[in-house]
Amino acid sequence: MVEFVQGAYILAALLFILALAGLSKHETARRGNQFGMAGMGLALVATLLLVLDYLGTDYIDQGPVVVGLVIILVAGTVGAVIGLRLAKRVEMTGMPELIAMMHSFVGLAAVLVGYNTWIEVADFAGEADGIHNAEVFIGVFIGAVTFTGSIVANLKLSAKMKSAPMTLPGRHLLNLAILVLSAILLVWFMNADGWSGIAPLGIMTVLALVLGFHLVAAIGGGDMPVVVSMLNSYSGWAAAAAGFMLGNDLLIIVGALVGSSGAILSYIMCKAMNRSFVSVIAGGFGSDGGPAEDRDYGEHREIQADDVAALLADASSVVITPGYGMAVAQAQYPVAEMTRKLRAKGVDVRFGIHPVAGRLPGHMNVLLAEAKVPYDIVLEMDEINDDLPDVDVVLVIGANDTVNPAALEEPNSPIAGMPVIEVWKAKDVIVFKRSMATGYAGVQNPLFFKENTQMLFGDAKDKVNEIVAALG
Ligand code: NDP
Repeated sequence: MVEFVQGAYILAALLFILALAGLSKHETARRGNQFGMAGMGLALVATLLLVLDYLGTDYIDQGPVVVGLVIILVAGTVGAVIGLRLAKRVEMTGMPELIAMMHSFVGLAAVLVGYNTWIEVADFAGEADGIHNAEVFIGVFIGAVTFTGSIVANLKLSAKMKSAPMTLPGRHLLNLAILVLSAILLVWFMNADGWSGIAPLGIMTVLALVLGFHLVAAIGGGDMPVVVSMLNSYSGWAAAAAGFMLGNDLLIIVGALVGSSGAILSYIMCKAMNRSFVSVIAGGFGSDGGPAEDRDYGEHREIQADDVAALLADASSVVITPGYGMAVAQAQYPVAEMTRKLRAKGVDVRFGIHPVAGRLPGHMNVLLAEAKVPYDIVLEMDEINDDLPDVDVVLVIGANDTVNPAALEEPNSPIAGMPVIEVWKAKDVIVFKRSMATGYAGVQNPLFFKENTQMLFGDAKDKVNEIVAALG
């Protein structure tokens, strides 16, 4: 049986690698997910078989095996029901919060596994086993940081906590002090016999929980996408650590896959957003300077849907830059319809997608693909920026931070340095939103007050529908 389970684990690991490969492209993403589901199903069945194999053997006490089996089945069923309900209910825009919450579960699981395996050894052996203790310590540390960090990310993403960075004086020193203290506690723990290890382990757990909270609280709203993928990576390492503690090869492989792919994604996102990778890991790369909210930007101008339709019909090239608001309004279908009508009239229509537009990487691409907008007119920020001076009309549909010139022009802005789609370089810019409210990063947008910008107020879906009707 053990050989069979090992074989199943290797197959599951291969399926997870195929899943990652599939997820790297739109066209193969669905298949990638299916590979992942098959791998996870196989892993669960194989693990269950491993426990079943103990049933009926006389060298192992049967009581705990039966209890373990019942716990696995009950917990598995409850987890599956909750997971199914959540997955069915969650809106696309709520996905990052859900992911952040799931990362927190992985972190908590690593902490519990760590305590559990340590209690077993402390209880039965009584003598210090340095290597095992080091595995437990590191696993609990990563798990605890991931746990509180992910909870803060969840609260910030769901707007239950202010998205502004919490910048305590000497915050980097505080993080460093926690790291140094934890290293000292590790040495103490590795040499502690039996139950005496509870003191260094307990103190470190509290410190790591504080560190996780502080690392993520110090990061501003606009930079949350990088944090989410960073926590994804941490959760992978936490799972790998749990794998070492439990001696489970599959958990080690899967943890390492998630950990490294999350780290690669974070690195790519850091590059896309012009942030330093090291400062993300160190926490708190949000700016200390607050937004210049008191500045008088002047008056904004308004326009109505009919006039936008006339402007579009006269244009020869149009670029649409969607953002979070398009997702909330579910405006992608009328946007696709408007695109078809304009293209039928001979207007060159393209989309410019910012790497962090919306609330998760690839958010806009998924919505546009759903509405059957052809892939070849959906371009990345870098592919569209140089062409914008030659574009007649840019439609900014529910985007705000990702088209904010303050990122380039105001060094003290919390989003300073982040590359943006330079829509203001086009001849005319129309901004679709409901009010003059700020975007996710909470920063005012000087674009709205530029001479070539006009605001079309209202729900994005209603307004695009009005334009579609006016286009005839
Ligand atoms: P923003 O959040 O900056 O702005 C969205 C705009 O949409 C708001 O100004 C809002 O204005 C408008 N809006 C909301 N609802 C509607 C509606 N029904 N109809 C019309 N307009 C609407 O979005 P962006 O996409 O430009 O930027 C994404 C931000 O989110 C960035 O700061 C990014 O860092 C962050 N983020 C991105 C993640 C990712 O992975 N992509 C993850 C987490 C955060 P109003 O209320 O006036 O209508």
